[in-house]
Amino acid sequence: MSKMHQSRIASVAERLAKTNSDVIFITPGADLRYLTGYDALPLERLTCLAVRSNGDAWMIVPTLEKPSALAHGVPDMGIELLDWQETENPYDLLIGKVGSITNPLVNNLMWVEKAFGLQGAAGVNVELAGKLLSDIREVKTADEVSYLHEAGAAIDTVHSNMHKWLRPGRTEREVGKDIAEAILAAGHVTVDFVIVASGPNGASPHHELSDRVIQVGEPVVVDIGGTMASGYCSDCTRMYVCGEPPAEYLEHYSVLMAAQEAARLHARPGVSCESVDAAAREVLESAGLGEQFIHRTGHGIGMETHEEPYIVTGNETLLVPGHAFSIEPGFYFAGKYGARIEDIVTCTEDGIKSANNTTRELVVL
Ligand code: ZN
Ligand code: ZN
Repeated sequence: MSKMHQSRIASVAERLAKTNSDVIFITPGADLRYLTGYDALPLERLTCLAVRSNGDAWMIVPTLEKPSALAHGVPDMGIELLDWQETENPYDLLIGKVGSITNPLVNNLMWVEKAFGLQGAAGVNVELAGKLLSDIREVKTADEVSYLHEAGAAIDTVHSNMHKWLRPGRTEREVGKDIAEAILAAGHVTVDFVIVASGPNGASPHHELSDRVIQVGEPVVVDIGGTMASGYCSDCTRMYVCGEPPAEYLEHYSVLMAAQEAARLHARPGVSCESVDAAAREVLESAGLGEQFIHRTGHGIGMETHEEPYIVTGNETLLVPGHAFSIEPGFYFAGKYGARIEDIVTCTEDGIKSANNTTRELVVL
């Protein structure tokens, strides 16, 4: 593993060398996990990786975290491991090691207090890494693609068993608790989110769980995901109804299925992310449901559930093999109901492969 991480760090240095910045600082989170495999807790105490454009790299950790950093093999990746005692200033220690600094970059999700700490010690303003890191992370290797498909298969088993938990008379929270257990039983190590949105709650795309009792004939949005031991995430939405849904809903739903399929058929290497969004959106718009499709068509996925590339108007990034993202158009009628169909797909040499393969039809329970 350390070879893979070493080459990821080297590619950060190479990209850095093409900018007017000569160092990047990265604190705990998905960027640090991706580059080093070190799943450090994001805490108030500073843990920070610094990579220079010439390839030199340091990681500073609190002394009490040093055994953990050693266990993750940090020094084997060509990273010099530094540690700081409770009463020392870790920012001064790290900057003292790194030396003179021009236009330092920080990872986008660094806590502001850490960014300000680095800025104060360096005496120069920090800038966001922006796409420098996401450009590397968004194109997955064959191994990463297989981890995402494993995650997809795991969440599919949860959707396949929904009839065991989703019934009228139960609350969203009761159903959600069972689903969360099933997400872990299916092989995930964490439950990242459980959306069970019945009837009118379905009109809020990120509604999670409430004590609302699920009624007969109500569509229920179930959007669930977790993270596998590989570090890669699942995310899949399917639609359920107990009994007979309103006829108008069924009409809308068949349009939504066509929109989701249009985006899947369109996505392939060489087409832009925004055109995948347009493929789904046009189908909904031409059926008069454009106003009800209130979000982008999708997001990239990997070690985070939401990452680049975003499938949205304005993103002209062209798909290449290894891109991994969701295709999840929906429609939302406030006060009534909503619907979304979501698959995670990976871009192949000539199209896409879906990581989610349970039926996309409205499942009648
Ligand atoms: Zn999603
Ligand atoms: Zn989702």
